[in-house]
Amino acid sequence: MKAVFRRCWKLVSVARRYIFSPRGLAVLALVAVGFVLGVLIAQIWTSDGSNGDSARQSAADAAEPTAAAPQSDIDSGAASDSTESANQQAPTRSTSSEPVEGQSPTTPGTSAEPAATAPESSLEPVVVVLDQEPLSYEAALAIAAGLAPQTVYPSDCMSPFPHPDLLPNAPRAYRFGIHQGVDFQCFSLGRHAVAALDGRVVLAVGDYQDPDPDDRDELLDVAGDLEATPPFTLLSLYGNYVVIDHGVVPFVGHVITLYAHLHEVDPDIRVGQTVRAGQRVGEIGNRGTHAAANGDFYEDPHLHWELHVDNQYLGAGLTSEQTREVYTRLFSEALG
Ligand SMILES: [Zn+2]
Repeated sequence: MKAVFRRCWKLVSVARRYIFSPRGLAVLALVAVGFVLGVLIAQIWTSDGSNGDSARQSAADAAEPTAAAPQSDIDSGAASDSTESANQQAPTRSTSSEPVEGQSPTTPGTSAEPAATAPESSLEPVVVVLDQEPLSYEAALAIAAGLAPQTVYPSDCMSPFPHPDLLPNAPRAYRFGIHQGVDFQCFSLGRHAVAALDGRVVLAVGDYQDPDPDDRDELLDVAGDLEATPPFTLLSLYGNYVVIDHGVVPFVGHVITLYAHLHEVDPDIRVGQTVRAGQRVGEIGNRGTHAAANGDFYEDPHLHWELHVDNQYLGAGLTSEQTREVYTRLFSEALG
């Protein structure tokens, strides 16, 4: 037993000498530094993980999609008073997949069909990308070519192609904006607006009441103050109108078309209704225009028609000649 005790004591003595030697102290210092580093690295690792989670959550929150309708723009019979001053693009407005009662214009009587009749598939939101880069001319031409085989002429009224003022990107000085659609001028009531492609109705306003001229002027004054056409002004200037969702067309994108200034919307054109290319959606008129606000529903009836792909009107950012080429290509097969 004594022998064991002596051996232990000897070991302790050796260890004590070793520990308090310069070499021993150096080893101890290294172990201590290693321990501290280990603790620090573990803390950083843990904190990275939790920050990553919250960052991902924030990203998910931010990515919450906003429903949207096509950016829209209209004209009126005042299209001829074009000036250089109006090149403002209207802000993107919201919602297409659902009626927009909460965001309806101030115009009395303007309302959307109830969403209750729309199937679930039509309620998928459209994601709005603000400050979207315009497509190149080549990309817009490719989209037009891709849609041409299934696109029909939305009216049999006058061809707009020789007239840049009737095509997208023409200035609309009276509301400080630019035209985002095509105007098919009809010169008389009784002409048909028809669906340009197969699709599903997502918005149908058929009980539009034209505002008093003074109220209309007030709306336009707001546009003047902003030097842009605000969304509620745009909506108020559409008159009776229909929006059709054509879904995602392969190699093209998500396509939506809009038919505005209708004299009346056909009664069977309701939200959720599927339509075929060429099916009538309503009678072409001038509702929403200056003349209609003054009680004249016969002056300058025309279909204001828009086509949007992935939340941008076809031809956005192009020159008038390029725009004409793109829309000529779009209707190349419809016109034969
Ligand atoms: Zn127009």
